[in-house]
Amino acid sequence: MYRTHNCGELRLKDVGKQVSLSGWVQSGRDLGGLTFIDLRDRYGITQLVFSMDDNVDLCERARKLGREFVIAAKGVVNERSNKNMNRETGDIELMVDEFEILNPSKVPPFTIEDDTDGGDELRMKYRYLDIRRNPVKNNLIFRSKCSLEVRKYLDEQGFIEIETPFLIKSTPEGARDFVVPSRLNQGTFYALPQSPQTFKQLLMVSGMDKYYQIVKCFRDEDLRADRQPEFTQIDCEMAFIHRDDVLDNFEGLTRHLFKSLLYVNLDEFPRISYDDALKYYGSDKPDIRFDMKFTELSELAKGKGFSIFDEAELIVGICVKNVNLSNKELKELTEWLRRPQIGAQGMVYISYNEDGTLKSSIGKYFTEEELNGWKSVLNAEQRDLVLILSGEKERTRKQMSELRLEMARRLGLMKDGDFKPLWVIDFPLLEWDEEEKRFFAMHHPFTSPKRDEIEKMMSGDLETLKNLKADAYDLVINGNEIGGGSIRIHDRELQEKNFNLLGFTPEEAEKQFGFLMGAFEYGAPPHGGIAFGFDRLCAVMNNQTTIRDYIAFPKNNQGKDIMIDAPDTIDDKQLDELGLILKTVNNYQ
Ligand code: ASP
Repeated sequence: MYRTHNCGELRLKDVGKQVSLSGWVQSGRDLGGLTFIDLRDRYGITQLVFSMDDNVDLCERARKLGREFVIAAKGVVNERSNKNMNRETGDIELMVDEFEILNPSKVPPFTIEDDTDGGDELRMKYRYLDIRRNPVKNNLIFRSKCSLEVRKYLDEQGFIEIETPFLIKSTPEGARDFVVPSRLNQGTFYALPQSPQTFKQLLMVSGMDKYYQIVKCFRDEDLRADRQPEFTQIDCEMAFIHRDDVLDNFEGLTRHLFKSLLYVNLDEFPRISYDDALKYYGSDKPDIRFDMKFTELSELAKGKGFSIFDEAELIVGICVKNVNLSNKELKELTEWLRRPQIGAQGMVYISYNEDGTLKSSIGKYFTEEELNGWKSVLNAEQRDLVLILSGEKERTRKQMSELRLEMARRLGLMKDGDFKPLWVIDFPLLEWDEEEKRFFAMHHPFTSPKRDEIEKMMSGDLETLKNLKADAYDLVINGNEIGGGSIRIHDRELQEKNFNLLGFTPEEAEKQFGFLMGAFEYGAPPHGGIAFGFDRLCAVMNNQTTIRDYIAFPKNNQGKDIMIDAPDTIDDKQLDELGLILKTVNNYQ
């Protein structure tokens, strides 16, 4: 028998028992008369002891065990004289009387420790070794528990899990498709789903009124730290519901996950409109763990002869509580804002000193009385620092959003373990691209305008269309977009109109989405849904930013799996079978 127990299991109550353990050699210590080996498996570490007095030969063999050798050991559980309080098995050890090497190991390319000496790329190349380390292993265990809780909750709410195909045709979600050539139908291609969007809508037409799936999605986009070309969504759709039914259900799911996995009770999620999110936080995914809401100052600040303010489309300030920066620190902050990544021209400050005086970079243009008068709108008191940016509206909001986050970072206001979810609602339906002079769908082309905007959508002019609001929503936690969804269009005419606004000809719309619009003609119920980014949810719940750490075998920043060396070329025979070889040759001619 390889093992009677695992390496994290034995306690004082087991002292005296004859047991066997199997696992990997974490480390060894040779103290002459005694040799100690730490044996590790998924469950923990147990100390093995080999004694020269008991068995010289066994002890000699144990001394030769290298790191990561796989062994099976038998012996008796013993109470340790020197207990290790930092380890769950720290009260006991195994006095080994027999062991077998099941497989030796080369010296691993990096240390299998919580803090390893291996860099990112090296650990990805040997991901199977990286997963032996606690931080990665624990992430995968968390993920597994999380998906189980998702299933429990949704099952209890009456949802059923239905699988949808991976070999489909393009579903536009704003990214490029990964395509798969068809051998049986040469010259044609499947696309891998960017999401199961159209299928889940078809399931609503089928009457499967509460659908969910924990599902892989594929998007061929430029990669960032928190993006992967294949990632997992908790994907849902419901029929005969309104927006609030979706929000309530998925707020419930989120609450359940935090409670069951982290023992955290979340407050009710505030709901804020997209317009207000931009106005007060300069971002559609605000971090509301801290305040520093934007205050617009145009009315107070314009017309006093300060040309930078007078010419600005927007003047916006934040109040940073209980902060007093030296001139040097203020200068450094201004330099930080001027870096090309942020691109601000400069920054105005008012420091309301403790002694009732104030210091400001615009003291020349505004009297002390005027600046003191700004305090009530800005919600500022003595000892607070007000930072002001001005310029073109959209850009200034973005810059101020960065400054707000930076101040929170510097002041330690983004606390791990503090979770502040919110819903951002009423997103615009369409996004106007000034360069291409056309609309793009802000969420996706199946999103419905808000009910009272339908008339305007059918007949409105360009300006009206730009301002249409959708019944679309996002769940944001601590500044991360966790999920998004919408109420969908469920009648053919409106869907045709939307495709038309998005620049599809009727023929193109029919060719790509005829199946969906056709289904709408057979009794499609009103419906809507949402999808959570599962990898990101796991990361955010653990106060981390990179989703890669929650994926067993992720891709690197170039979209490559450097362990298996993918993507890779395929041989001519395969290309030929797929009907691709001629095309390649022709391209070279
Ligand atoms: N399919 C959408 C997405 O992947 C989610 C939804 O609208 O339900 O973002």
